[in-house]
Amino acid sequence: MRRTSLSFIAVVAVVAFAPVALGAQEAVPAGAPYKNASLPVEKRVADLLGRMTLEEKATMLAGAGWMESAAIERLGIPSIKMADGPLGVRNWMGSSAITNAANAPKVLSTSFPSGVAMAATWDTALVTREGQAIAQETKALGRDMILGPTVNINRVPLWGRNFEGYGEDPYLSARLGVAYIQGVQSEGVIPSVKHFAANNEEFERHRIDVHMDARTLHEIYLPAFKAAVQEAGVWTVMSAYNRLNGTYCAENPKLLTDVLKKELGFKGFVISDWGSTYSTAPTVNAGMDLEMPGGPPARAMIASPRSQLAGNSGTWLEAEKVLAEVKAGHISEAQLNDNVGRILRVIFLAGLFEHQHAAGGELDTPEQRAIARQGATEGIVLLKNTGSLLPLDAAKVHSIAVIGPNAAVARTGGGGSSLVRPKVAIAPLDGIKERAGEAIHVRFELGVGMEGEDPTMDTPEARAKLLQGAAAAAAQADVAVVVVGRYSKLEGESFDVKTMDLPAGQDELIAAVEKANPRTVVVLNTGDPVTMTRWLDQTQALLNMGYGGQEGGHALAAILFGDANPSGKLPVTLPKRFEDSPAAANYPGVDLKVNYAEGIYVGYRYYDTKKVEPAFPFGFGLSYTTFAYSGLTVTPGRMAGKEPVEVSLKVKNTGSRAGAEVVQLYVHDGHSKIDRPVRELKGFQRVELKAGETKTVQFKLDRAALSYWGYTGPDNGGWIAEPGKFEIQVGASSRDIRLRGTLVLGR
Ligand code: BGC
Repeated sequence: MRRTSLSFIAVVAVVAFAPVALGAQEAVPAGAPYKNASLPVEKRVADLLGRMTLEEKATMLAGAGWMESAAIERLGIPSIKMADGPLGVRNWMGSSAITNAANAPKVLSTSFPSGVAMAATWDTALVTREGQAIAQETKALGRDMILGPTVNINRVPLWGRNFEGYGEDPYLSARLGVAYIQGVQSEGVIPSVKHFAANNEEFERHRIDVHMDARTLHEIYLPAFKAAVQEAGVWTVMSAYNRLNGTYCAENPKLLTDVLKKELGFKGFVISDWGSTYSTAPTVNAGMDLEMPGGPPARAMIASPRSQLAGNSGTWLEAEKVLAEVKAGHISEAQLNDNVGRILRVIFLAGLFEHQHAAGGELDTPEQRAIARQGATEGIVLLKNTGSLLPLDAAKVHSIAVIGPNAAVARTGGGGSSLVRPKVAIAPLDGIKERAGEAIHVRFELGVGMEGEDPTMDTPEARAKLLQGAAAAAAQADVAVVVVGRYSKLEGESFDVKTMDLPAGQDELIAAVEKANPRTVVVLNTGDPVTMTRWLDQTQALLNMGYGGQEGGHALAAILFGDANPSGKLPVTLPKRFEDSPAAANYPGVDLKVNYAEGIYVGYRYYDTKKVEPAFPFGFGLSYTTFAYSGLTVTPGRMAGKEPVEVSLKVKNTGSRAGAEVVQLYVHDGHSKIDRPVRELKGFQRVELKAGETKTVQFKLDRAALSYWGYTGPDNGGWIAEPGKFEIQVGASSRDIRLRGTLVLGR
């Protein structure tokens, strides 16, 4: 079956990569410097640029297919063959409407947990291994580039793509984005950190104009991109669909040239998001280097009524259009050289010139699957466990009722371009049954149909019957596990989630099951926060599993039975109500303009500073063991010069089980001239501790960790660390600060 679909892929690929016909050009000597892999990349780029005709250069600015850049055969410049990520490798043969269809040719690869679930692990080493695994699968499928990671900040609880990114905090997103990119690039695969910048809602994503001040941009929405560029040396950046401060991101010179290329020093290429260009010269001149998609698929997409309605646009960088603008003097050859040089640089850096990836390698290997499973397990957050209902004691539990619309189906991820098709996906029910074995009777009840999935289940009669069945099953079982949440058609790309409330009937289901059996574990299988106020007080045990990828069911069973000790911590605040969230009053915007009026007060920066009580705070997560923090030292206690200071403390596992604690370091600047949040995350470490074990945890803090972005002009400014006293807060969540210390920044 797979063989057939892959040969189909090969046919499509040949058509898509047909080299562009060019006039007669001089032959290239075999010993041309650019062909010499031992020469510095910059020399090779300069040599190759010098041999290219204007036409060849212009050809390289637009894709040749849906997911392929243009090849220049005469010079041996290969096409870059892409595939969507970031949660695994996806079918690359068309838009997600095509590739997510049931009859689409199958590309079966490992489905990793969603970004926000991986972020809940706070495990940078694991995210690097995930990046490596995804890159290996990218190569095995004969592709060169994976379109991820997504590092956009979760600004509003309703963003349809919150599940894809790493949560609400710029520092955490930066660390995980860097980890992912390093993993991908270490395999010689090209990542693309996306979506640059401020793509934080799907509502009218092709038209919305995001307005924010420069401080907010620099402190909240840029840091993950900055770290990707400066720490991971990321090879490509994908521009966002939206406008930023009046200008489309793909033709925004302030964003792409002034900030990304000049301020941050980005040397790779900018790729457009699919169908997000609106002009020729302004786009090229702004520093948008490669327009995607290209060729016939781009033309077909632009012509489709669906894309037109959505506001997609493209085909502006087709060679003839670019050449006409060069001729008219609107694009200089120096500019073109810069754009093309960047694409060539990445081709050389990734080694594609010498070695093009050919399909045929192994997919979904045991090692890759193990990474997905570890991620899914570490990413589960234990939110509530009154009366220590969890972990279940397999020797004492004889029957479990597994209930809910997300129990028997593996809801691996949200919808859109990140949805991966795994060979096998483990639903919660599968995982629980497998772990329970023969000795425990496991019974499944749907309880309620997933909203909109099967209309026959959405009638009042069907609902009443299903609810009754669930309550009866729960009443008869020792324990009930209710798995609720959303799925890819209610939460995904190109639309925002309609409400923070769980889909229809799920609150009632939880309440009915809890009434029938108080020994109920509620499991949230969704990317965005949900309203929990209707049942939370009665709930004894609550787990947030997010979208756990293909191994979600195994991971859940391991946590339920205590084979793994929960160690996930929330990378995003879970508010009580949508109205409590910081950007609620400024979402989705008015007249296609959204003002980020909350400024830097995103996530816990808002909840903690403005004292708004969330349902569960940022960084929160329980364990089956307990941890004690002690002995905080800051050495030296005074920072002068550039030397970082060291923050050190001890963490002890005071319970009787091994477990991992995510120690979080926040900084508070109480003496600032300008308004600053009561805390900002500047360090974290995931520490594995055996029962009774103590470890020393150390952090380095530098001036950057103390700085805010201050203005020297309306749009200009820089990072400022004001001399004075800073509070160092170390804790188990943003609202559970266990130790405080002081650091003085000298003049
Ligand atoms: C998404 C990108 C994706 C691209 C290609 C766009 O709609 O926003 O994240 O990489 O499509 O599928």
